[in-house]
Amino acid sequence: STWWSNVPMGPPDVILGISEAYKRDTDSKKVNLGVGAYRDDDGKPFILPSVRKAEEIVYQKSLNHEYAPIGGEATYTDAVAKLAFGEDSPVIKNKTNCTVQTLSGTGALRLGLEFVTKHYAKNKEIWMPAPTWGNHPQICNTLNLSHKKYRYFDPKTNGFDLQGAIEDISKIPEGAIILLHACAHNPTGVDPKKEEWVKLSQVVKERKLFPFFDMAYQGFATGSVDNDAFAIRQFVKDGHQVMLAQSFAKNMGLYGERVGALTMLCGDPESAAKVMSQVKIMIRTMYSNPPLYGARLVTEILTHPEIKTQWLKDVKLMADRIITMRHKLRTGIEGRGNPRKWNHITDQIGMFCFTGLKPEQVERLTKEFHIYLTKDGRISVAGVSSKNVDYVAEAIHKVSA
Ligand code: PMP
Repeated sequence: STWWSNVPMGPPDVILGISEAYKRDTDSKKVNLGVGAYRDDDGKPFILPSVRKAEEIVYQKSLNHEYAPIGGEATYTDAVAKLAFGEDSPVIKNKTNCTVQTLSGTGALRLGLEFVTKHYAKNKEIWMPAPTWGNHPQICNTLNLSHKKYRYFDPKTNGFDLQGAIEDISKIPEGAIILLHACAHNPTGVDPKKEEWVKLSQVVKERKLFPFFDMAYQGFATGSVDNDAFAIRQFVKDGHQVMLAQSFAKNMGLYGERVGALTMLCGDPESAAKVMSQVKIMIRTMYSNPPLYGARLVTEILTHPEIKTQWLKDVKLMADRIITMRHKLRTGIEGRGNPRKWNHITDQIGMFCFTGLKPEQVERLTKEFHIYLTKDGRISVAGVSSKNVDYVAEAIHKVSA
């Protein structure tokens, strides 16, 4: 026996399990559509040219490795808040935002929700879209925060269920927290249209709900960082005091550097200063202060106009490749005379596509065709390339026709 003999074996992470099964497969045709990381058309990880440039600049500066401030460097937090809310956003000009660097998007969600458990004085119930990213409910469970679902994805159309969402949101108790994916919804790839966001903002306002935006894919959905920030900026324009989790994992390809941010809009600078004082206490007791390197790269990219221009091109390149693969996949399936509708492949947006394939069809894809994806039928379009798109289309056609 050990000090830990009472500890039961936990379930393995679903996504990592898929990658492991993929690695074990020795078939040369195998395809991994499970992982949520961008791949270039050769199936390789992509280092953004803008990030390379930023790395050179950081290296040339011969910076030291002293501690960062508890909430991260102000140059970083200012730059990332402007990227999300807009250069001229009054909430930033008036210093009503409390923004801190976090350990990527997950760290921002965890810190934000932990802040809720300690300091949110209203209804600490979290309402999430159905379905949502698996880590959302898990973080709430860890923090003993109760969570519920509002309708979001319509399996009949493989699109957004506006009416269902509005009906459900209209019944959420006042003061509760509503979690919204700012763009490129994971796992469905389904985003509300601009006019639908306007409606959602109204209902959230009427119900007096507290919006918490998760923005893990700014730029990845449409290829434009401003377009993808539409929902957040609309909510802010409508007077919502939002909370925001930001990540630079996907849109800068900085996955393992763990660089992100948490922003709380506070209405006035005094309140923002108080919130900041408490967030810092929370960070101090968790990890003391954030890592430097990723934040330095993000700062260089966002504060040098020429590198920023390159980055905007890099993001667009990634988004465009995904959009192109969506078209090829759809025409590949339809071109084979498949009787079902596949418009959702190109209607959906961002890294993921919710194919509508049933668990037994997913199983056939893996067993017969060596194509790996999650049981819910989600594929990472980033794993599709010019080389394998025809094979994937053929396989999807065969299991679904
Ligand atoms: N939110 C959503 C919806 C995501 O898909 C992800 C990435 N899978 C994250 C947050 C956070 O990722 P990271 O911690 O790597 O920034």
